[in-house]
Amino acid sequence: RGTVTERISVDRPVFSVEFFPPKDAAGEAELWRAIRRLEPLDPAFVSVTYGAGGSSRDRTIRTTARIATDTTLVSMAHLTAVSHSVAELRRVIGAYAAAGIRNVLAVRGDPPGDPLGEWVPHPEGLAYADELVRLIRRSGNFCVGVAAFPYGHPRSPDAESDLRRLVAKVRAGADFAISQLFLEPEGFLRLRDRMVEAGCDVPLLPGIMPLTTLRTLRRGPELSGAPLPADLVKRLERFADDPVAFRAAGMEATAELCDKLLAEGVRGLHFYTLNRSTATVELVQRLGLAAR
Ligand code: FAD
Repeated sequence: RGTVTERISVDRPVFSVEFFPPKDAAGEAELWRAIRRLEPLDPAFVSVTYGAGGSSRDRTIRTTARIATDTTLVSMAHLTAVSHSVAELRRVIGAYAAAGIRNVLAVRGDPPGDPLGEWVPHPEGLAYADELVRLIRRSGNFCVGVAAFPYGHPRSPDAESDLRRLVAKVRAGADFAISQLFLEPEGFLRLRDRMVEAGCDVPLLPGIMPLTTLRTLRRGPELSGAPLPADLVKRLERFADDPVAFRAAGMEATAELCDKLLAEGVRGLHFYTLNRSTATVELVQRLGLAAR
């Protein structure tokens, strides 16, 4: 079915979607409704996150494997180093390979409990994502992606060292990067330029969170460290008490951001779906990214 690199190396911009592994039967049904609605639009790949501390390990494996067997989609499993020894990580990577998963997003993960708390690696585990990239590369024939932060990772002291760490992940063998969400294009485009200047020519896909609710507008920047642009707040917060009008204005703003990124030649847009499909379907159709 191809790798992520192959799927995004085509002569038109594509889109991809991110899901989290559902916790119960109702969540499972919701996820599969979303998958079935998105499938005919032919996303380049769909990814499934990995819960903190390995809490979702089996669900991530099961969901990603089921997408690979029950749909026509290319699937990617995330993997984090949180609370895992190297031996455990090897077992998860082996399970991915056995389930036919060829694409893995290697992220370090956050400390369980408090995402911005002190990071303490497992005593027999890995400290940073570049080591995870190397481990996955050594363990089989995988296409490997990494995380990138247009406004720097919250724990990075400055943009310079943040870029160095990203470059180190690519040198360790990453084939592409996906960015944390952001609300204005400048930081993403600057990071892309700086990667090229640093001799790093792997594709960088922007992570997009559709602004459907006031919560997505406020929580996104809080969790990602991306700035909340004052003009966007002004534009959207006047609809704070009118969810329908907020959604319309938020989707308009999201589409404008996507348009600017496409005009700047990004290879694809990676949508954070929260296991829903309606907003992504609307944007993909509006932007002309659906399979023709
Ligand atoms: P790293 O690249 O290891 O960087 C972490 C910090 O350490 C940075 O500040 C970096 O500058 C610094 N650093 C790196 N190497 C060194 C070094 N050698 N010495 C000193 N400092 C160093 N989390 C999940 O739990 N599950 C998921 O599925 C998940 N998916 C994600 C998908 C995307 C697209 C993104 C953007 C994030 C995702 N995350 C996920 C969140 C991610 O795990 C956290 O943001 C985590 O804090 C950083 O992960 P990383 O891979 O960028 O870590």
